[in-house]
Amino acid sequence: MTSKLIVFTDLDGTLLDHFDYSFTAASTTLTSLKTLGIPCIINTSKTYSELLSLRQELRHRDPFIIENGAAIYIPKSADLILSSDMESKGDYWVKAFGPKRKTLVDLALAFAERFDFISYSDLSPEQLAEFTGLDCASASLSLRREFTEPLIWKDSNLALETFKTDMAKHGVKVQKGGRFVHLMGQDCDKAVAMAWLNEKYQEKYDAPTKIIALGDGENDVEMIRHADIPVVVRSPVHIPPEIPKRTDVWITESYGPAGWSEAIDKVLSIEGYV
Ligand SMILES: [Mg+2]
Repeated sequence: MTSKLIVFTDLDGTLLDHFDYSFTAASTTLTSLKTLGIPCIINTSKTYSELLSLRQELRHRDPFIIENGAAIYIPKSADLILSSDMESKGDYWVKAFGPKRKTLVDLALAFAERFDFISYSDLSPEQLAEFTGLDCASASLSLRREFTEPLIWKDSNLALETFKTDMAKHGVKVQKGGRFVHLMGQDCDKAVAMAWLNEKYQEKYDAPTKIIALGDGENDVEMIRHADIPVVVRSPVHIPPEIPKRTDVWITESYGPAGWSEAIDKVLSIEGYV
């Protein structure tokens, strides 16, 4: 039985250009995937609200994974086999991998006396815009998070380690990012969500699948490591992340969306699709 190809992709710096967020260089390949009926699953740190207009621009109809693997949005039209752990939300089924944000915010609040940090939920769009350099409209979309809570950590690194241990006791993971530390459910990870969704596709196809995963950053490493075809998209601003235990990783020649197309076009050709 031939296996069915599925694409899992990061957005920023991968499908979208690092500097201007354009995906022009990937347009033709995106159309090819659509024509061939190959699902292209977005797997991003962005929120549902941030993806709304972007998915329209991309004419994206496939499922998408938000907030670093915290939840999967599956369009009801995607015709995947349902399970009882999905929640209905408008046109989508939602599978969550961790607690809702309110739970995380309340938990953080309970520790606010012992540690020095500012919770995302306490920031206004204007304050967040000032802190991140986002414009106010984007900042306000980014504040509409559902499953993760970023903190501006003002305490010491040692205190952060203690905080991590405390959070772990509540099933919450503390992940250090560029500007923030992120609170999320212990099981939230791009790779875990990918594996779950892949199984749904195998059920739908009643056939094995072949995953090509593409990313450019540290938070993509596990996703790429667990793919059948692991692709690191070259970044103009940092060296490619190391993918442990894999010797078959493709590192693209081109940067961002051009590299994305380069890799997928090559796979489509090798696999005999074009
Ligand atoms: Mg990225």
